[in-house]
Amino acid sequence: MVGGFTARHAGNLCFKGPDHKAVSAARSSALTELGVADFPLVEAQQVHGNKVFAVTANTLPQIRRPDGRWVAPASDALITVQPQITLSLYYADCVPIFLWLPEGNAIGLVHAGWRGSLKDVAGKAVDQLCQLADGSPAQLRAIIGPAICPSCYEVGQEVAETARKLPHPETFLDHRNDHWHLDLKALNNKLLVRAGLLPGNIEVSPLCTRCRTDLFFSYRAEGTGCGEMGAFIAIL
Ligand SMILES: [Zn+2]
Repeated sequence: MVGGFTARHAGNLCFKGPDHKAVSAARSSALTELGVADFPLVEAQQVHGNKVFAVTANTLPQIRRPDGRWVAPASDALITVQPQITLSLYYADCVPIFLWLPEGNAIGLVHAGWRGSLKDVAGKAVDQLCQLADGSPAQLRAIIGPAICPSCYEVGQEVAETARKLPHPETFLDHRNDHWHLDLKALNNKLLVRAGLLPGNIEVSPLCTRCRTDLFFSYRAEGTGCGEMGAFIAIL
């Protein structure tokens, strides 16, 4: 099994912008560096929802588009037990979550911004990955990658109200100077534990994408049109 998260110097990895040639080149070099250049690269039409797409021998051909890319419709999490398929999702401040069984025979990848987090996309991915792999969440390992930190992440009253209904909101929601701040990494950590992961099996990156624009692209720092990083995971 192999996985990784790109930094800013790897270039923009998302096809939203006009320069598709540069994105293709940046993706190719990231995949070559990971040693997965020959595998199909599956991505998802990320919509800030909680739909999980299982990539199997049956579903892979169904999501092949005329341009040759494999794109899972309206999904924010990808799971598979198939070797030699690379799962990928793209980020600029949202939370990347890598999931895998220690035997390396089942993997998942999650994109969680505030909308997806409040809809528990991480918990859904855990449930469905365990079903697909016939595994237990207590066996699963997770890495919560670089994402926006709570100081950089002010949210509105409505978001705060919804977040307060989740268990232990004091661990991820903070009211300071009349503003609400949401800790997306801490929230997703809680959601993973609620889904059955052992806290000791979850590793959290301390890096903030907005504090460290020297390393990462940040939507909150740079606005629309900023580049996006890629997260990749594959069973070899
Ligand atoms: Zn920050």
